[in-house]
This record gives sequence, structure tokens and C-alpha cells, in this order.
Amino acid sequence: MTETPSRVDLTTITSLCKRRGFLFQSSEIYGGLGSTWDYGPLGVELKRNVKDAWWRAFVWGRDDMVGLDAAILMHPDVWRASGHVESFNDPLVECRDCHQRWREDQLSEAKCPACGGELTEPRMFNLMFETYLGPVKDDASIVYLRPETAQGIFVNFSNVLTATRRKLPFGIAQIGKAFRNEITTGNFIFRTREFEMMEIEYFVKPDEGEEWYRRWVEESRRWYADLGVNEARLRVRDHDPAELSHYSIATSDIEYLFPWGWGEIQGIANRTDYDLRAHSSGSGEQLTYFDNETGQHITPYVIEPSAGVDRAVMTFLTDAYTEEQAPTASGKLERRVLLKLHPALAPVKVAVLPLSRNERLTPLAREVHDKVRRSDAIRGLVQYDDAQSIGRRYRRQDEIGTPLCVTVDFDSLDDHAVTIRERDSMAQVRVPIEGLVAAIKERLPG
Ligand code: ATP
Repeated sequence: MTETPSRVDLTTITSLCKRRGFLFQSSEIYGGLGSTWDYGPLGVELKRNVKDAWWRAFVWGRDDMVGLDAAILMHPDVWRASGHVESFNDPLVECRDCHQRWREDQLSEAKCPACGGELTEPRMFNLMFETYLGPVKDDASIVYLRPETAQGIFVNFSNVLTATRRKLPFGIAQIGKAFRNEITTGNFIFRTREFEMMEIEYFVKPDEGEEWYRRWVEESRRWYADLGVNEARLRVRDHDPAELSHYSIATSDIEYLFPWGWGEIQGIANRTDYDLRAHSSGSGEQLTYFDNETGQHITPYVIEPSAGVDRAVMTFLTDAYTEEQAPTASGKLERRVLLKLHPALAPVKVAVLPLSRNERLTPLAREVHDKVRRSDAIRGLVQYDDAQSIGRRYRRQDEIGTPLCVTVDFDSLDDHAVTIRERDSMAQVRVPIEGLVAAIKERLPG
């Protein structure tokens, strides 16, 4: 495959995100907390839209899936049975000179990437955050912040099965926060210690595991492509046997070509019956499925598509970033920055812009804004903006990825029509205010 270099560098994306209110550094006025980020007014919309698009595609859009929202804190035995207390480790090495710490498996050479110094022998470092349940801080009250949402699904397997009377194959989907005390973080929201996951545990008959695994790899990849991600910047990478996690017999990563190179945005694993068996023996509850056809209790295999919400946000933002030369109203060419976000993801769906701030135009523009904003047909933010020239307002909306701008001008007072301007093509079309909501809906897929 020929590599399509990413168009934008990390600094450009990071500063756009801060300037326009997608992301802020956490606790910034106190100097910030290492690699933790807060989603601002636009970021929170984008992130919600990503999660909604995922839920629509994989839960509402299918008849073999149900949802779950399990607690972050779980009984500590869950993590003993799952193998996380024992094996959820990364190899930590420290530089003997500058004392920086690194993840050994991410180093290309056996020396400190910062100063070239000698490194210590690796020691295994457990990534789970610990805290205490209740007022007494002793070993008996230790609980963990979950490092993945998956275990909440496994321990509820029988509850869901009994409540929903599902037949194999079926899946349980969940979106929620996860925490990992990563040794090194960085690349903006790509690797943080607190992040959000969108996970599916898909239960199948053991002999159908391989087939479903392949299907889920392709369906997962397609989700990003369907939401507009350039397929030349997406690839599937199969893990070598030596790379596999303790629970997996096959894993593939979906990777995106970020400004710094290929990075994992989602993993798909064939976890076999490892987890259900582990929790059956850990809890004493038999987490099995009664197969009517054979009259036997079986332990299903599990295929797990596991995606990071923040990495998906990062992918959509990076991929959508575009710079081009575009004509201004006077015909002069000017640099235009736009986010070509899929309309389903765009934080602001429509901006209503009076041609100028004017006592005759403002009431009509406000009326148009209310009409669009209150319509059930448009799911998302509808902004009103009358500050500065219309050209600058178009550019401001382009830069945050708003698919449609509606302009109310002086002709609107007579012909009761407005202009819809489309972000990517900048094409403009005149529509009657009466049919405006329908015209917008037609142009906003998803
Ligand atoms: P990596 O190899 O990058 O550490 P991983 O293989 O440990 O990732 P998984 O356990 O497969 O990651 O987690 C599933 C998904 O969760 C990843 O594909 C990624 O999108 C997301 N994810 C994992 N760790 C982080 C993190 N520290 N920050 C943000 N997202 C993360």
C-alpha cells in the first residue's frame, strides 16, 4: 500500500482544538496535570456524536446486540480471576543517568531515547490504578479503577442472558471510562491515563469463533470508513503470536496513519472462552449457555471489538483537517482551513448567519434560528452568529466543521427565502424559509 502522509501536524491540531474549544489541558490554571484533557464546548459535542454514531451502528442498527452500563468499581476478585492483577503489566525500564522511565517494548534501541543513557533491567509494572473502598485504607479495602469495560460485561453474562433470552450469536455493547496508569503517555489524546472505550463482547459458538472474528475486523474497519475516514490511512494489522495478550488466540489492530505514524485505534480479539471460564471458576457461578439444539451447556467464545473513544475523536479530527486555497467574495484566493467532518459527527450542524447585524434582519434571523434549533429533525447544535463580516463567519464555521450555514439577507425580508451554503463545495442554494428544515435534513445524512 502506498502511504498517504497525514496532512496535518500535531501542533496545528492541538492549537486548533484549544483555540476553538474542542480540548483543554486538565487543571490548566494549576499548571496542568500530565496528559489529561478536558473536552470543551465543541469537543463534548464531537465526542457525544462519535459515541452516538457507534451506538447507532452497532446496537440500534443490529438485532443481535444489547447494551449495558456497568459500574467502574468492581469486586477486586473480578481482576484476580480475569488475570489483570497477575498479568496486566508493561515492562518498565529507567534511565540510570536522567531517570526518565520508558516502556521497554516501545523502544527501538536498548538505550534512553532522551539522553542515550544506560537503562535498568525491565521490571513488570501493573497498569491498574488502585483506590480504597470506604474509610479504612488497608489491603482488604483495595479496589481498582477498571482498565477496560469488558469485565463488567462478562460478570453480567448470565444476568443479560436471563433478562433478554438471547440466542447465540449475540453481543453486549458498552461505552465507558477506563483507567490505565500508563508508563509513558503522549501524542495529545492518543495515550492518556483516563480515557473512554466503546467495547463489544460478542458471544458465539466456539466453532464459529474464527469466522466472527474476521467479520468483526472488517465491520469495525468499515465503521471508520463509513464515517468518512480516508481508507488509505486505515489498515488492519494482525498481531504476531508473541504480541498476544494473555486471553487471546488472535488479535488484529485497526490502525490509522497519524502525523507521527501508524497508531492503534481499535483492537479486535478472539478471547475464546477464557473470560467466562475464568469467572466461572473465580465466582463459582457457571457462566454457560444452554444449547437447545444439542441439549448441552456450552461456554461460548467471545469476539471483542474494543475501540477508544478519544482515539476515534483524534482520528476523525486529524483526518478531517484540510487546508486549501479558496476564493473570497471579491474573487481573491485565500487559505481556507476546514474540518471535513461527517455531518453525523460535526459538533455544530447548522449556523444561522444574518448578512449583517441590522434591526430589520436580526428579528427574522432569530426567528429562522429558533425554527431550526427547535426542530426535532436536526439532532445537534444550531448556532447563531452575527459578529464580524459574513466571510469571516463562514471561515469560522468551516474551521470547526459545520456542514451548513444558513444566511439571512435583505432579500429574505421580501422573498421569505434564505441561502444554504455547503461547507466542502461552498455551493449556495436559495430555499424558502418554510421548507428550510426539510432542505437542511436532506443535506445532513446521519
Ligand atoms: P496500546 O498498545 O496502544 O497500549 P492496547 O493494545 O493496550 O493499546 P487495548 O487494550 O486493545 O489497547 O485497548 C483497546 C483500545 O482502547 C485501543 O485500541 C485504544 O483505542 C484504547 N486505548 C487503550 N489504551 C489507551 C490509552 N492509554 N489512552 C487512550 N486510549 C487507549
